[in-house]
Amino acid sequence: MAERLKYYIIPLAIVVFAVAAKAQEADSLAVRQTTDSLHVAATDTMRVDSVAVQPKAVPVHPVRTLGKVSVIDTLPTGNDALRIILFNDNTWRYILSEEYKNDPEVFSDHWNTDVTHAYMDVDVNSLPEATAIRLVDSLESYHYPFLGRISSRYGPRRGRPHQGVDMVLKTGDPIYATFDGKVRVSKVAGNYGNLVVIRHNNGLETYYAHLSQRDVAVGDWVVAGQQIGLGGSTGRSTGPHLHFEVRYRGQSFDPERIIDFSTGNLRRDELLLRRRHFSIYAKFEQDFDDEVEAEKQEEAERKAAAAIQYHTIRSGDTLGALARKYGTTVSRLCQLNNIKSTSILRIGQRLRVR
Ligand SMILES: [Zn+2]
Repeated sequence: MAERLKYYIIPLAIVVFAVAAKAQEADSLAVRQTTDSLHVAATDTMRVDSVAVQPKAVPVHPVRTLGKVSVIDTLPTGNDALRIILFNDNTWRYILSEEYKNDPEVFSDHWNTDVTHAYMDVDVNSLPEATAIRLVDSLESYHYPFLGRISSRYGPRRGRPHQGVDMVLKTGDPIYATFDGKVRVSKVAGNYGNLVVIRHNNGLETYYAHLSQRDVAVGDWVVAGQQIGLGGSTGRSTGPHLHFEVRYRGQSFDPERIIDFSTGNLRRDELLLRRRHFSIYAKFEQDFDDEVEAEKQEEAERKAAAAIQYHTIRSGDTLGALARKYGTTVSRLCQLNNIKSTSILRIGQRLRVR
């Protein structure tokens, strides 16, 4: 019994510490930022225990701008699922350990650091009709890449596909990582000029082009809000601007689908990415009027078909109890997560329950 108790109490203490630390972080944020950010941090904390699919689009405010920092160390926490990263400006963040990420292959499958586009062999028609992509959660956050006047939107332009959004800037303006992730490309890449490509934990890739300076190297882990370079006009460019792309398995879609560049907010914490969104003609603004109607339909479809739901393990959770809670079976849980019914659950571990 004592052994069992120890097993529960130590991780629980870590979670309590994590929540307390988050709250403290929120306090210090309030000093430096608006109350909006404080609100996000609080929501963040509340969502620690269960991560469910949220069909309603709730805007997510950017996290604190980290600026030009680098990771000086990564520390274990006593909880396998969580690590602490230390930056050279004396700040730190929790990150989810690699082995606890949703898709453990995200940083090995098609991980090619030599080419600009790593998924050239993936046919768009081989992708599911709809994919639910979690953009932020209790550990992973968001920051806009840059905020400026949009000079060119996603879509066909002079007979060529324009696969991103252009924002006017001054050479030397800082550019930030949009989500946490790992740098796949940092090089001079033809028309893109100085290019950084970051692959994120959810499988999305973001492209930052025409930079005057790159501050990150291939293989670097970066977090949202970290400066990855400076804006410029390198490559095929007629003036200083950021060309920003978002891609899923090589397929670009309108970045305005996830980011509202007028406010800098993320439009929602989860994206239902449909195959039709990968068309160069599928501009977010074009189908905005239909979006509300489509949203309702998608919500219904999502509930029926995709309905992917995750649960983050808390003290005392067992597979049997989770199966009852989510109206499923232990064998289905094991199948969904590729685990055995005898597998030990760890605090903070994220299990797919639907
Ligand atoms: Zn562009």
